[in-house]
Amino acid sequence: MLISSKLLREALEKGYQIEPKAFELINKLDIEELTINKIIELTIQKKIDNNQEKKITENDIKLILTKFILDNEKDSLKDTEKIETKLEVIKTIDENNYILEGKKGFEELFRSRYNKLLKIISSRPDYVKIEKISSINQKKVKDNVKISGLVMEKRIRRNNLVLTIDDNTGKIDTLVINKKIMNDVKQILLDSFVLLDIRINERGTAILNNILQPDVPEHLPIFSKKRVYAVLTSDIHVGSKNFLKKEFEMFVAWLNEKENKKEKEIIRRIKYIIIAGDSIDGIGVYPKQELDLEELNVKKQYTYLSHLLEQIPQSIEIIIIPGNHDPVRQALPQPCIPDFYSEDLLKLSNVKIIGNPSYISIHGIKILVYHGRSLDDVIATTPGLNFNRPALAMKSLLKARHLSPVYGGRTEIAPDFEDNLVIEEVPDIFHSGHIHTLDQERYRGTIILNSGTWQSQTPFQLKMGIIPVPAVIPIIDLSTLDVITKDFKNLEFIS
Ligand code: FE
Ligand code: ZN
Repeated sequence: MLISSKLLREALEKGYQIEPKAFELINKLDIEELTINKIIELTIQKKIDNNQEKKITENDIKLILTKFILDNEKDSLKDTEKIETKLEVIKTIDENNYILEGKKGFEELFRSRYNKLLKIISSRPDYVKIEKISSINQKKVKDNVKISGLVMEKRIRRNNLVLTIDDNTGKIDTLVINKKIMNDVKQILLDSFVLLDIRINERGTAILNNILQPDVPEHLPIFSKKRVYAVLTSDIHVGSKNFLKKEFEMFVAWLNEKENKKEKEIIRRIKYIIIAGDSIDGIGVYPKQELDLEELNVKKQYTYLSHLLEQIPQSIEIIIIPGNHDPVRQALPQPCIPDFYSEDLLKLSNVKIIGNPSYISIHGIKILVYHGRSLDDVIATTPGLNFNRPALAMKSLLKARHLSPVYGGRTEIAPDFEDNLVIEEVPDIFHSGHIHTLDQERYRGTIILNSGTWQSQTPFQLKMGIIPVPAVIPIIDLSTLDVITKDFKNLEFIS
């Protein structure tokens, strides 16, 4: 149905602007005009209460919508009615993932990376045919030459910057003089794929006119028809002296609450818990880790984890991927936790153990789950990024369409015929952990979420000045993709 001009006039008379996207959303809703009026009214009231700008965005409408439905529960579940889970593992790393050795292996890996990303970028509507680097004649003056390749080097000099790329046929140095383009280049990760527009000048120098990344297209995420929630979490670090046992037990108890009037409608609709790695603290991950451990036996750490998870209602699917603290090879991608360790977890029928990274679909929503080790490298090598905003570093990965481009940094990469770290599909939700900070961002229709931790500040983090955000869980409403958080440290519900 179409929004009435009367309502629009009223909003405008009050000095409110409605963003086109918000308009679109309202028009798409299959509800009566009276209800729409009510939603707009509530949105404006909320703006007045919070003293906010007189502008109504798509998100404002979505937030009100969620609450509105909560209060006017039309599709309220009967106590006996159950929501079936719909979980599908789209892509993961299997246990027998074949690894090549040494130099040859990395040549194959980079060739695969280049080819996969070339395919992605050539499907863009603004794509113009590119030339091979080996075919560029630097003796002839020419403008608007398009080439692509992986970034080999960025040499920053006093007044300019030299960017070197390689495309399997050869490599080329390009000179960057323009300040804006220089800033763009500084944001680009080493070994990531780029598309360049260059000019060959009289002296035979290639000058960079413009640089593009594969990036993700603007897209509309999919929403589930039923109101279902997913809890995203990570970095539980069971076995560590700093594991927040009491808070985690409170979380588990909360999931079992039936009398919680205020939150009942959310609790009973939680159907998924996704754990993005480091569910245990492991051993030998860093020097003298034993001093920080409560339980030194890795297998027992998993047994203990399974005792905690078995108290979660069985109607909730639990998905676990490994991180750098799990006993799996450190080089990315990581296969799933071996059966020897996960034996007790596997006894729980609602637990699914898969590799890092994995693409899963829950209720039709596509989620890319990745522990996030490479975020350390991204943050360390990109100006303007820091550990307080891991979601921005995750955004850089989305733009590069690669989970761990930097080779030779802190993150080990396994050489292989196929580069399984290329972000081939555009996720609706991109979920990582590792940084122990809760952070979120929306980028071109994808929800980016870094999901915090269940470990309080460790002596190492104290030394490094890292302040974690423990015991707070983000909960995603899959019917709107809105994120709410529940804090088990301060026991409050923040919306
Ligand atoms: Fe961790
Ligand atoms: Zn980690």
